[in-house]
Amino acid sequence: MTSISILGSTGSIGCNTLKVVQHLGDIRVVAMAAGRNTHRFAIQIARMQPELVSCLDEARAEALQRELHGLHAKEPRIEVGEAGLVAVATHPEADTVVSATVGAVGFVPTLRAIEAGKRIALANKETLVMAGELMTTAAQRSRAEILPVDSEHNAIHQCLRGERKSEVRRLILTASGGPFRDKSKEEISAATREQALDHPNWKMGEKITIDSATLMNKGLEVIEAKWLFGFEADEISVVVHPQSVVHSMVEMVDGSIIAQIGVTDMRHAIQYALTFPHRRENSTEPLDLAAMSRLDFAEPDLERFPCLGLAYDALRTGGTMPTVLSAANEVGVEAFLAGRITLSEIARINRDTMAAHQPSQVKEIADVLTADTWARGHANFILTGSPAAVSTTN
Ligand code: MG
Repeated sequence: MTSISILGSTGSIGCNTLKVVQHLGDIRVVAMAAGRNTHRFAIQIARMQPELVSCLDEARAEALQRELHGLHAKEPRIEVGEAGLVAVATHPEADTVVSATVGAVGFVPTLRAIEAGKRIALANKETLVMAGELMTTAAQRSRAEILPVDSEHNAIHQCLRGERKSEVRRLILTASGGPFRDKSKEEISAATREQALDHPNWKMGEKITIDSATLMNKGLEVIEAKWLFGFEADEISVVVHPQSVVHSMVEMVDGSIIAQIGVTDMRHAIQYALTFPHRRENSTEPLDLAAMSRLDFAEPDLERFPCLGLAYDALRTGGTMPTVLSAANEVGVEAFLAGRITLSEIARINRDTMAAHQPSQVKEIADVLTADTWARGHANFILTGSPAAVSTTN
């Protein structure tokens, strides 16, 4: 029987993972960690009965105990904070760790799981963006497999099965274009929180939905693809495909393009990562090919969606620059969700933070964390104009 740990069990990927676990019927959840949704976490714990769980902090651990008591559920071992996340990620009985927290918080726990040789079902793309080299080097050393849960990379993983890397011309990531695909620069700038959160094809968490609206998500995915598959910026292209039926493609040197297509349901990618190298029946509706009237493809517009271009710049610069972009973007997205800035200001914060950064090489965790902290400080400085928020280290 496979045993898994889940980082971020109450989020969109976490909830879908539990649906897959329930469907497959022969996977045990030994440890799980969650953030703010204590009520949902308690219900999940009562159902899955993990041995270990981790909460954001002590206050939430106490609230969780009360919730579990109310549900008459058996209380697992409860830990908190980053140490708790690491304990969940490295639980000795877990073969696979589903890394599904959002943003930089998942970086150290996921790295520890890689070092422990676990299979990683990776949904938390920011970890690879901020520290791709550290993570992939650690994975080579421990022989940990990193299986992408991000639908585009999951598709590419499927397209590359049995192919030689030297015979691949380029990876082609598809982008739905988000809710503002056909909107003008002015309309995008004036977009409300509700409009930005209304993704046409995928139901996801708030951070990734905003990133999809700015195309930052696709930019982060370009960087993620470099680290997962070992291709350079010029060998990774993006094509806008509004139907999101083609999840991504690989173009071979002979011009043949291999695509993976399917329904827009994350349970597919999650199950693929959990059962690889095997495929099993799943519970999603099959794709109805005859019901699709057309598939459209177009070039992305970097003028209206500058975040995608910034991601290519960060990838080409390398070193700490992708870390800085990802951290600045997290600050920008949070500020937008809090109603403090317009949607297009996220790109400005990202660009100005990158412009102020002196990139350096990433050799160890501290290099990543220092760049991350600096970028958050600088992005906050741009937001508030307060120099106190800026760290002196660059
Ligand atoms: Mg994706």
